[in-house]
Amino acid sequence: MAETENFRSQKTGAIELAVKECIRCKLCIRECGYLQKYGKPGEIFERYLNGDKDGRLPFECNLCGLCTAVCPKDLNNNTAFLQMRQELVADDDAHLLPEHSVLCRYEKMGRSPFFTLHGIDPGCDTIFFPGCTLTGTRAETTLRCYKYLKNEIPGLGIVLDCCSRPSHDLGRDTVFSHQFNELCQKLKRQGVKRVITACPSCLVTFREYAEDFESLSVYELLASSMTPGKEQMTMEVTIHDTCVTRNDSVLQDAVRRLITVSGIKSYESEHSREKTVCCGEGAAAGFVAHGLTEKWASIRKDESGGRMVITYCAGCSSTFGSKLKNIHLLDLLFQKKRIAENTVKVTRSPFTYWKRFALKWRLKIGMNKCT
Ligand code: SF4
Ligand code: SF4
Repeated sequence: MAETENFRSQKTGAIELAVKECIRCKLCIRECGYLQKYGKPGEIFERYLNGDKDGRLPFECNLCGLCTAVCPKDLNNNTAFLQMRQELVADDDAHLLPEHSVLCRYEKMGRSPFFTLHGIDPGCDTIFFPGCTLTGTRAETTLRCYKYLKNEIPGLGIVLDCCSRPSHDLGRDTVFSHQFNELCQKLKRQGVKRVITACPSCLVTFREYAEDFESLSVYELLASSMTPGKEQMTMEVTIHDTCVTRNDSVLQDAVRRLITVSGIKSYESEHSREKTVCCGEGAAAGFVAHGLTEKWASIRKDESGGRMVITYCAGCSSTFGSKLKNIHLLDLLFQKKRIAENTVKVTRSPFTYWKRFALKWRLKIGMNKCT
């Protein structure tokens, strides 16, 4: 992809299609508090095309795709809501809401030299890309995971950087296109061909917009190499699948295998796999749609049967926070003892920034020692 190419062209047409094809059956409304507030997708988009450009409406949708999963017409409403965001934001940030400034700052910090590291040795063509939230909340787990992967893939590099998904989801199309292209061009110049992600959002971003790389999730890789250990755990968990990867059954199977390998009994809920619910934070709706987004976490809690919820997204884990007992799959795999003792340390904001900074320097110093 040329550095100046813009991604928006890939998203146009979803609004018009929804207006034309939506049969107003309300199946999606049964599932989603946002649609219960605003109405049938076909009607929402029709009002929009007729000039009703409510500046909050598209930003209150989590872009989670559950409405598509239940739609008999297979309409991509989340793509249509993203299109609305892109058209509103246009080429400047004038229509972003004040609440979005925190997220824009988070992304800017994630791309700054304070936190980025491209630890790629000459000849290395595969990198581990853990993502901003995992490294901030779970620096030790990230490090242990990287060490394990490095044993499996000698010469594996590590890149601490931001994929710019926040800008993508906010509809800042020009910003996202520029930043993500810049990252991809840099990785290409460094010889990277394969990207192993830990964050499901990074995974879909690379898969959707960087076809030149082979992108796979760390869970697939771990599931193919990990075998049952001697210490088995007695815990029971309910699985929370991430909404961005709701159609990725390979990833979902890998997650289930890893839980089984750990000796843990897992339970499915009514909303799992392609029918999973958002954690509430998806596409930054959590910043603006208070009251609506909490409903998703309530569904997850109600369906968890009182068990611990296991997730494989650091963002979901942070959003559930103390409201819903949860563990991250990578903590389960790389902090077994602490999980068993219930002493896993999850760093909370703003200390996450310090952890990212410290992790960068631990990795950097380790690399210099090796050379
Ligand atoms: S929040 Fe999810 S289910 Fe509801 S309209 Fe948006 S994408 Fe569809
Ligand atoms: S499920 Fe599909 S067809 Fe039915 S109202 Fe929702 S978007 Fe329209």
